[in-house]
Amino acid sequence: MARHRVVIVGSGFGGLSAVQALAGADVAVTLIDRRNHHLFQPLLYQVATASLGTSEIAWPIRHILRKRRDVTTLLATVTGVDVANKAVVLEDGEQIAYDSLILATGARHAYFGHDDWEKFAPGLKTLEDATTIRRKLLLAFEAAERETDPDRRRALLTFVIIGAGPTGVELAGAIVELARETLKGEFRSILPGEAQVVLIEGGPRVLANFKPELSAYALKALRELGVTVELGEAVSTVDGTGVAYGGKRLDAATILWAAGVQASPAARWLGVAPDRAGRVRVEPDLTVPGHPEIFVIGDTATITMPDGKPVPGVGDGAKQGGRHAARVIRARLAGDMAVKPFRYRHAGDLATIGKRAAVIDFGWIQLKGWVAWWTWGLAHIYFLIDTKNRLFVALSWLWIYLSGQRSARLITQGEAETKAPTDEVTAGD
Ligand SMILES: Cc1cc2nc3c(=O)[nH]c(=O)nc-3n(C[C@H](O)[C@H](O)[C@H](O)COP(=O)(O)OP(=O)(O)OC[C@H]3O[C@@H](n4cnc5c(N)ncnc54)[C@H](O)[C@@H]3O)c2cc1C
Repeated sequence: MARHRVVIVGSGFGGLSAVQALAGADVAVTLIDRRNHHLFQPLLYQVATASLGTSEIAWPIRHILRKRRDVTTLLATVTGVDVANKAVVLEDGEQIAYDSLILATGARHAYFGHDDWEKFAPGLKTLEDATTIRRKLLLAFEAAERETDPDRRRALLTFVIIGAGPTGVELAGAIVELARETLKGEFRSILPGEAQVVLIEGGPRVLANFKPELSAYALKALRELGVTVELGEAVSTVDGTGVAYGGKRLDAATILWAAGVQASPAARWLGVAPDRAGRVRVEPDLTVPGHPEIFVIGDTATITMPDGKPVPGVGDGAKQGGRHAARVIRARLAGDMAVKPFRYRHAGDLATIGKRAAVIDFGWIQLKGWVAWWTWGLAHIYFLIDTKNRLFVALSWLWIYLSGQRSARLITQGEAETKAPTDEVTAGD
């Protein structure tokens, strides 16, 4: 009898953990991703701020799965699902048939109806996003070195981050340290340490998902580091010269977006109504209503736990979802057709503020300061794939910690035009 065909779309945290949890099962797995690498998104901000290189936080999927003879990896973009004929549709029209389907296609940043802001304020989701931001940041300093007009120079040295969740907070801290420590003494006309980093948040506190005392600590640590934090101010305009918020106008050459996410279009592929963030509302066992053979997991799905709280859009939620889908498929193959509700266990929330402070909320214990920073560092090194990368990242961090120097300070993606930072979006290391 032909083996049960499991097609998994997306090799992020969710898709990859489903593949791993299907090891040894009597199935043929096809894993489809439009990129050839698995990306550790929590450290993207370190590529964007020149601390780490791209290959330190991403790994070729083929290499990760080289020993899994049951898995076929395809580099392709999925554009739809033929639900009636049980086939995934690729961009070039090819169809890949499935018996069970796991959609794990993640999310992208969203601009709350202001899509025109994207070209001025890039978000951080892919390696290309990270190297584009790195280019923008470094070019701003280069342009400032050549700028003679003081107002224009000030705008070039003003860095605005919109959204004070973990990504916004981490970017803000790292940009201040890049300016004050890494670039110190290397320019002749400017003092990079005079750069102004402004973190704008529409809500009343930074790190809104954390306990209020940890938010308050993070706010204090950010301000001590030199970040200007503007709370309760929704941004009303983003353009090529700066931002407007709370009745104020701020000229800035570099604006970064860390404010909202929109799920991949899986709901459209399936012909189901999405929630406000574009996510598929799944059944308690993570399947699509009316289609027990289709699972949607991770950032593309929305599900509420018995305690009424939604599963957060974090790496561990996606990983647990992937493992759950694999468990259900295995159980069904063994003849157990009972519905198995997904139970999410929240491990904790972590965020760093520069290279000396962090906040961690494990629920049962809260950590802050350098203890939290070391815990954060060890946890992230543990979750990286590959011993070589663990070693390299640990060494890079140790070097940055001791010397302030960031070695991934390369302006790639074309020649540098220092009179006006550009918005090109091609990848580079
Ligand atoms: C900057 C940043 C920092 C973060 N920090 C943290 C953190 O510190 N801790 C934490 O827990 N979480 C963090 N997250 C969130 C976490 O990364 C996500 O929740 C998690 O990656 C979701 O996993 P996923 O499998 O649903 O999607 P993803 O990991 O995003 O994977 C989706 C995959 O699907 C592929 N794909 C998408 N569309 C298609 C298509 N049409 N065809 C083929 N392939 C496709 C993509 O290429 C990608 O490989 C962070 C996210 C970002 C962006």
